[in-house]
Amino acid sequence: MNDRVIPVLDTRRAAPIGTPRTPGPVAGDGSVADRRGRYMRDLRISITDRCNFRCTYCMPKTVFGRDYPFLPRDELLSFEEITRIARIFVAQGVSKIRLTGGEPLLRRNIEHLVEMLAAIPGLELTLTTNGSLLAKKARSLRDAGLQRVTVSLDALDDPTFRKMNDVDFPVAQVLEGIAAAEAAGLGPLKVNMVVKRGTNDHAILPMARHFRPAPGNGGHIVRFIEYMDVGSSNGWKLEEVIPSAEVVKLIDNEMPLQAVGPNYPGEVAERWRYLDGGGEIGVISSVTQAFCSSCTRVRLSTDGSLYTCLFATKGHDLRGLLRAGRSDIEIDAALGALWRERTDNYSEQRSEETAGLQKIEMSYIGG
Ligand code: SAM
Repeated sequence: MNDRVIPVLDTRRAAPIGTPRTPGPVAGDGSVADRRGRYMRDLRISITDRCNFRCTYCMPKTVFGRDYPFLPRDELLSFEEITRIARIFVAQGVSKIRLTGGEPLLRRNIEHLVEMLAAIPGLELTLTTNGSLLAKKARSLRDAGLQRVTVSLDALDDPTFRKMNDVDFPVAQVLEGIAAAEAAGLGPLKVNMVVKRGTNDHAILPMARHFRPAPGNGGHIVRFIEYMDVGSSNGWKLEEVIPSAEVVKLIDNEMPLQAVGPNYPGEVAERWRYLDGGGEIGVISSVTQAFCSSCTRVRLSTDGSLYTCLFATKGHDLRGLLRAGRSDIEIDAALGALWRERTDNYSEQRSEETAGLQKIEMSYIGG
């Protein structure tokens, strides 16, 4: 185990399941709040730390080069381990699981994992992908039980897109993937665009125009994401962040917008709808408008460590518990104990100084 992972049972006293879980309020379904009154609802699982793109803001080639030591196969959680732990998370109150990575579609037989997770009752199952393999896999993923996908796409013009993915991947293939996902019924589909000043800000309006509903075309919701200081390898600078307010203003000037309320409590994207008809956009403002106070997310890394914040510097070793033969009851109790102690609010404390912390890379922790 590396020094950035904390063994769970060794450091915390876990109450057995079924005993009153204190402190913190308890929701109707029995789930327990953390120290800031937040409940665990969304689990993101990174199923591979590998990616076929080298997006400059996420897995820059300078760090993730040919010799980068990706995790060996036996370090990865198996499908059985992922499914077992997912069931325990659901018992803790999680109602939505997002498969991510790395690039999740690179994990061999992902359809089989989807099938296993889809069998868990009451679970919303989604996936985030760069779309490069989606044209091939959309139908089989849908057949396996995947409900929705989010596709990351940072520009529509080929030169900008190729430059950002840094592996010369053509945008046309991602657009094919989006069309295939829609045809397979993996909608409503969302498109995530990370906006970086001086790199792809010129692509904001074309993206909004392209994915807006038009006669004979239902469109897709684009979510403009503020460039974040995730991990410690993307050389993040505050001046490269375009505040969401600026994005909204730019689009509103051409296609008037109106703010809409969230679909559910804790929704990360702030919603804006087009005034003259259907369609909407979202903005995710982790930098300029921290949403820590309503954060219900938890992340499981490729090798089974638990992270209660995207900007964490340390995780908790769940795989150790699984492989040490601990029972579901023990793991559930450990998980509950961990969540109850959670206090993370990194985005509320962000500064140029905290941006320099040795944070866990997003490809490993799950974006
Ligand atoms: N490979 C998949 C993909 O491209 O969607 C899933 C993993 S990726 C890490 C998940 C999401 O994180 C993508 O939408 C990506 O754009 C976003 N992301 C990565 N680095 C980011 C950063 N520095 N700031 C904001 N979003 C980032």
